Amino acid sequence: MTTQDAMNTFVKDTGGWVASQLEACTRCGICADACHFYTATGNPEYAPVWKVELLRRAYEQQFTFSGKIKLALGIDKKITDADLNHWSDLNYQACTVCNKCSIACPMGIDLGSLLAGVRSGLAAGGFVPEDLAKAVQLQLDEGSPLGMTDEVWEDRLEWVEDDWEVDIPIDVEGADTLVIFSSIEVMKFPTNIAAIAQILNAAGENWTVSSTAREVVNFGFYEGSEEHTKQFLKTLLDGAKELGVKRIVVTECGHAYDALRWHAAHMLPEANNFEITHITGVLGELVGAGRLNLKPGFYDELDAGTITFHDACKIQRKGGHIKEPREILNLLAPESFKEMTPNQEQAICCGGGGGVIAIKDADPIRFKSFELKIDQVNKVGAKTVAMSCSNCRLQYVDGVGHFDLDWKVTGLSQMVADALIEEE
Ligand code: SF4
Ligand code: SF4
Repeated sequence: MTTQDAMNTFVKDTGGWVASQLEACTRCGICADACHFYTATGNPEYAPVWKVELLRRAYEQQFTFSGKIKLALGIDKKITDADLNHWSDLNYQACTVCNKCSIACPMGIDLGSLLAGVRSGLAAGGFVPEDLAKAVQLQLDEGSPLGMTDEVWEDRLEWVEDDWEVDIPIDVEGADTLVIFSSIEVMKFPTNIAAIAQILNAAGENWTVSSTAREVVNFGFYEGSEEHTKQFLKTLLDGAKELGVKRIVVTECGHAYDALRWHAAHMLPEANNFEITHITGVLGELVGAGRLNLKPGFYDELDAGTITFHDACKIQRKGGHIKEPREILNLLAPESFKEMTPNQEQAICCGGGGGVIAIKDADPIRFKSFELKIDQVNKVGAKTVAMSCSNCRLQYVDGVGHFDLDWKVTGLSQMVADALIEEE
C-alpha cells in the first residue's frame, strides 16, 4: 500500500458526481460551524471543507487544466506521504462522519460521502491509524474488534440468561427476526442484551440470535475499506439466510446500522432479501401498538431528576428514528423528560463515533468535543442521559469519568425494559 494507491483510489472515486460536488463549493465556510470538532477547538483545519481538501487537490491535479498548470508552476505540490499522514489525522481523529456538515451546506454538498471517499483513499494507501488498523485485523482474525470470539459470545449469553433470568433463543431456524448485537453492548453493556431479550419476549416476538451473525460492528466501514466492509456484512447476511429470517434488527449501534441498513444494499444484492431495521424503530412499533405492558410515568415516580435524550447521528439524523424515543420518553417520563438544544436532526454528535473512540491519540480532541455535550446537558439540568447507540453511550460513560460528572448514562432499550410491568 502506497501513496500512489491512495491517489488511484481518490481518482477512481473522483467520478462525475464527486467532481460536481467539489466544483459546487463556494468556500463559504458555513459547514465549519456545523462541525463539533471545529466549534470545540476553533482549529480551521477541522472545518469539513478542509478535511476533503485532499480529494479536491487530487481531482484538480489529475483532471483540470488549472491543476496541471499550478503543478507546473510550483503553485501546488504533488500530494506526498506527509500530506496523507496529516489528512489521516484530520479525517480519522477529528471526524465522526456525523453528517451534520452535509445538512448545513447551502449548496447541498454531501460532505459526509466526500469524507467517506477520503477515508477510502487513505485506507487503500495504508494510512489508517494504527489502533483502527489493529481493530480491523482483530475483526478479520476473531470475528470481532473487541475480542468477542465464539466462546466469549456463548459465555456471555449463558451468563445473561442465568443472571437476568431471561430466555435468549439461539440459532432458531425459521424465526421471523434475527437480532444482531454490537460487541460494545456485549462486552461493555451486557444489560442491553437482557433488556432487549425481555422486551422481545414480552411482546411475543419470534426472534433469535445467531452463532455466526453475532457481531454487527463493522470496523471495515470505519476504516473506509470496501473490501473489509463487504466481508463483515456478508457474514451477517449469510447467517440471516441460513436461519431463514425475514427481518434483521440492529441493536444499539449507530454506524453498524448505517453499514447494514444502507451500504449493504449497494454492496451485496442479497441484503435486499431482508427487512433491515433498528431496535429504536422496533421499540416505537411495539410501544405504539400497545404490545408492551409498561408503567406510564415510571421514571417520574423514581424522582431522579431531569432526563434528556441524546440523538445519535446515524440512528436519528440519518436513520430518521426521531419520534420513537420522544414518544417512549413522554410516556415513561412525561414530567422529567426534557430536550437539550439543539436536538433531533440538528443534534451535536457525542464526539466518539466514526471510530474516533478507538484511537488513543484522538482522546484529547474527543474529550474537548465532549465539552459541548456537557454544556448542553447542564443547560437542561439533566441527571440522566438516555440514548439508542452504545458507541455514544461509551463516549458518555468515558466523558462522565473523565470530567467527574454526576450523570447517569443509559440506553433507551434499558429504560423500556426497566419500566415493563411483570406478568403475574
Ligand atoms: S458549506 Fe458547502 S459550499 Fe460552503 S464551504 Fe462548506 S462545503 Fe463549501
Ligand atoms: S461529518 Fe461531522 S465530524 Fe465530520 S467534518 Fe462533518 S460535521 Fe465534522
